[in-house]
This record gives sequence, structure tokens and C-alpha cells, in this order.
Amino acid sequence: MLFSRASDETAPVRPGGRDTHMIEAAKGTRDILPAEIARWQLVEARARETFALFGFREIRTPIFEATELFARGIGEGTDIVAKEMYTFQDRKGRSLTLRPENTAPVARAYIQHQMHRGSDVERLYYIGPMFRYERPQKGRTRQFHQIGVEAIGSDNPAIDAETLQMLMLFLERLKIPSLTLQLGSAGDETCRPAYRQALVAELTPHRASLCDDCRRRLETNPLRCLDCKVPADQALMAQVTPIFDHLCAACREHLGAVRAHLDRLGVRHVLAPRLVRGLDYYRRTTFEVTQPALGAQSALLGGGRYDGLVQELGGPPVAGFGFAIGQDRLVLCLPPDLEGFEDRLDVVVAPLGGSALGPALSAASRLRLSGKRVVLDPLPEKSLKSQMRRAHDLQARFVLILGEEEVKNGTFTLKRMADGEQRRGPDPDLLRTLSEMSHD
Ligand code: AMP
Repeated sequence: MLFSRASDETAPVRPGGRDTHMIEAAKGTRDILPAEIARWQLVEARARETFALFGFREIRTPIFEATELFARGIGEGTDIVAKEMYTFQDRKGRSLTLRPENTAPVARAYIQHQMHRGSDVERLYYIGPMFRYERPQKGRTRQFHQIGVEAIGSDNPAIDAETLQMLMLFLERLKIPSLTLQLGSAGDETCRPAYRQALVAELTPHRASLCDDCRRRLETNPLRCLDCKVPADQALMAQVTPIFDHLCAACREHLGAVRAHLDRLGVRHVLAPRLVRGLDYYRRTTFEVTQPALGAQSALLGGGRYDGLVQELGGPPVAGFGFAIGQDRLVLCLPPDLEGFEDRLDVVVAPLGGSALGPALSAASRLRLSGKRVVLDPLPEKSLKSQMRRAHDLQARFVLILGEEEVKNGTFTLKRMADGEQRRGPDPDLLRTLSEMSHD
């Protein structure tokens, strides 16, 4: 056997030694099945439409990158780099990592392809899977999906405001209720170090009661403590001095300008004085959008400004702003009655008896060439009843019945699933009859 089995040594082994135990999706991953895919596709289509209104274009970067990119881009002290990456060596001993986020890869591509030469601000978006070795729970998986955007090339607060307007417009179009945009600041290289020190001084007396992670963070990345999800720590973090009290004049001015622009654009938001976020590259604007239905994992998305990242990765000193939406969580929040995810079949063609298969193939072909969605199961021995059940399961609007009699006479029977109404006609009238029955 090439691979040793992880568990369940008692699983059946076929005579002849072949191992036939069932293999399930790896822990923390899941299949997105056809019944739910329309909601995923709808979200993606709305994202593409909305982002295009603001001049954002799609970029597709590789699923794995050199490990160093994330170590440098996200920061050694972050939870992601310290303990959540899927890192492996390839056959030549290179260290590679499945991307845990996509801002660093997009910044890498921006530098590699010298996109800064093209325009003042490069507006990019991506849709795809990310990988983090986390404890799986509701709304938290090891492979998850993000829809993200990056606007690289300017630190003007108008970029922050416009990109946030685009984000909220996208969510509005999906009719997701009860969203709150929380706006914070991570400070900059002038004011953040002093706040970091003040925070360490404030938290150190409580060291013994902090969770293990926060004790580690206190040494490596104290701002990350503010993000802790452990309730006792959260209560403490809600009391500490907010970074807003420490912002320098330039950061204060930037935040004020972002808010003024947001007000002008009618984008509602609340201030979150302690929202710093965990990744090292954030500077100035930070934000999250929360949705109460998500419970403990209430953050639907997060983002901010990362003015030092491109330079840190060896590029020019250009500023950046972006966000990443958790697509899995977004799909969970969609209202059940949202219109637009139409994936119903138009017709199931039901051949009854062997001689019906040829005419059924021809009829299915004609229907498809006229734009109808058609399924034909080539099982002429199946009863009409089981063909109807199949049409019902597939949510087809019509069943085209081709029995021996129809074949003999060159006719068809078309049945409307909604009310059982049935019409017969000669073959050449099929498309017209379908159209009439669709509209009356
Ligand atoms: P981050 O890249 O950590 O700023 O996360 C941005 C968004 O991605 C979060 O608000 C979540 O919606 C989503 N997300 C992050 N990690 C996970 C995960 N392990 N499982 C599902 N969604 C996640």
C-alpha cells in the first residue's frame, strides 16, 4: 500500500487485499454541493459587477507561494505565521506554503509585474480558497474562501472611503441585513510603537490570568491581544486604553478625512477605538463588518490600509488599501428568498422504451440549441413515474414525454410540473408549445 491509513484499522479489506474503506474530505474542509452552488455563484457574480463599477479588475495568483513571502508580508509574530500555515517542502527542498491570505501574494504580483508603472492606483480583486490550520468550528474551516480587493498606489483617504463604499454597496445588493461597519485605526510608525509599549505596561500586571495565546502575544505581537476571542480576555481588552487615545496628528487627520468622505458618500459606520487587527502590515485605517447571525465568528470581513507592505516585500514605497470577505460566512448570511440564483432546469426529456431514445436525443439537442437547460437520462427502461420523480428532484419546469406512441406518430407530450397541465403536438411545434406553456 502506498499510503498508510490514518485511522480505523478495522475498515473492510476486499479479498485480494484492496482497501475499500470510505475516504472523507480532510478535517476542516468541505464540499460545496450542487444544491448550494448557485448561492456561491450569485455572490461571485455580484462581486464582479459591483467591483467593475469602481474599475477593479480580477487577478488570479497561485495557490502556493514561497513561505518567505508570508513570513515577511504577514509578520513572524502573527498567529497565522506562527501556527496556522500549511507549509511543506517540494521535491527540491524549497519551502512552500498554501496561501493563508492573499494580500501578500497580490503585492508580490504587483511588484513582480511592475504594475506601479501602469497607473497611479492599481485596483485588483480576487476570489478563491485560502488555507489556515485552525481548530474547525462553525464558520471556521481550514480551507475557506475569500473575496478580496486591493487598491495599491495611494494613501489618500478618498481611496479608503471609495473602497468602503464599494464594499457596502456590494453587501447591500446581496440584501444582507443588520450589518455594521466598524472603523478603527492601527496608527503608524510614529504613534504605534508608543501605544504598543503602553499596552504591554497595562497588560503585564494581568499576565497570569491571560490565555496562553495572549501570554505569547504579549511578547511577540501585543496588539493582537486586542483581537482575542477568549471571553475573559475580551472583557479585559474592552477596558484597556484604546489606540485612539494615542494616535498622532497625521493619523487623526487621516481618520477624520476618511470619515468625512464616508459621510459625503452616505456610508454609515461606527468608530471602533480598539480595532487594531492582527496582521503586522496594517497601518492607519482598519475596519471590520460584523453580522450578529454569525455568532462567535461574527466578523464577516476585515481589512485596512497597509502602506508599508509593498516596500517590505522589495517593491517601491507605495501605499495600499484592501479587504477580504469570508465567502463561506457571506453565503451563510444571505437571505433565503434572495432573487437571482436561478439554476432550475427547463426540461427533463423522458424517453419511454428503446425506440424513443433516438428521437429523445434529437429533441434534447433542439431544445438546448434554442437556449433551454435540458437533462436526458438515457434510460428508456425507466418508468414514467421514476422519470417524473427525477424531474421533481432536479426542479425541472417541464417534462417532455416521448413514449412509443409519440415516436410512432411523430408527436410529443409536454407536461408542466407546476400544475400538471399537459399538451400534445406534432414534433415541429415543440419549441412554440414550450414557449406558450412557459408564459400562460
Ligand atoms: P482575515 O484575512 O483574517 O482578515 O479574515 C478576513 C475574513 O476571512 C474573516 O472576517 C472571515 O470572514 C474569513 N475567515 C478568516 N479565517 C477563516 C476561517 N478559518 N474559516 C472561515 N472564514 C475565515
